[in-house]
Amino acid sequence: MADSMTSVTTPVVEAHGAKIPVIGLGTWRAGTDVAAAAVAAALQCGYRHIDTAIAYANEEAVGEGLRSGGVPRDEIFITTKIPPDQIGLGALERAAEASLKRLKLDQVDLLLIHWPNSAIPLNDSMRALCAAKRAGLTRHIGVSNFPVALLDEAVHRADEPLVTNQCEYHPRLGQTALIESCRRHGIAFTSYAPLGRTQILDDAVVTAIAARLQRTPAQVILRWHIQQPDVVAIPKSQSPARIKENFEIFDFELPPEDMAALSALARPDGRLVNPAWAPRWD
Ligand code: NAP
Repeated sequence: MADSMTSVTTPVVEAHGAKIPVIGLGTWRAGTDVAAAAVAAALQCGYRHIDTAIAYANEEAVGEGLRSGGVPRDEIFITTKIPPDQIGLGALERAAEASLKRLKLDQVDLLLIHWPNSAIPLNDSMRALCAAKRAGLTRHIGVSNFPVALLDEAVHRADEPLVTNQCEYHPRLGQTALIESCRRHGIAFTSYAPLGRTQILDDAVVTAIAARLQRTPAQVILRWHIQQPDVVAIPKSQSPARIKENFEIFDFELPPEDMAALSALARPDGRLVNPAWAPRWD
């Protein structure tokens, strides 16, 4: 374990000065009882990117895992997110400060608006997000669950660069338009629910590729994500064995025909995350 903790260099996606490791650990539904151990296990096997959110109610435990993982703070890219009812002027900065207290950090690397909120003027939210960056609460800013038109507007209204749009993406859900719009703005696309919350792991196309390449279905799907330019993936696991498995994807490549076969699994009803407050998707 000690060996794997030294000289780890995860490939990164670069966006407006941010260097975002292409694989991060997701922590939604990693409760306070398991999140610290999961984060520490991830750091120990080489992850340098951790994703949390105020809404996950696990920031204290994630912070504990960051401290116990034995990796210097400046080598870790940590993201948190502000819920949509707290993205107004003033409220957003206060929420970010409270997050830092729970995480026991001076600054996060990336602060995201978790979901858009049509009841709060986008201009106010972008001003607040930029103010949080200028106040040093975060090194970089971005958004999550922003469809193309809203992303364009957010970029236009922000006077600091956005570095990512974090959205659902896996082989069952095509996101070509959104990924292209991220590329146009020079920002990274971060795939959440990258494993389709396990629902695609037993797809026959996925299992056939995995068997031929002697990899697991999860490794094949994560490799499909990170082989796409400017795409980052944040698989969640609280099992040390699966955390490790999900990171062991840097020593093989999917040939173009496998990339295409996986992309061809996209279907109109492939979306898994669609709460009542979701925007109108592209
Ligand atoms: P996911 O990463 O696609 O799937 C997580 C599920 O897959 C868990 O049940 C996990 O179980 C299982 N799993 C992980 N690795 C596996 C493997 N190698 N083999 C078999 N099963 C495996 O879904 P997600 O958690 O919804 O998304 C990932 C992260 O994205 C979240 O944790 C969160 O950080 C972020 N997210 C953001 C938003 C947003 O609105 N911005 C929304 C959803 C998610 P075990 O834990 O038991 O391994």
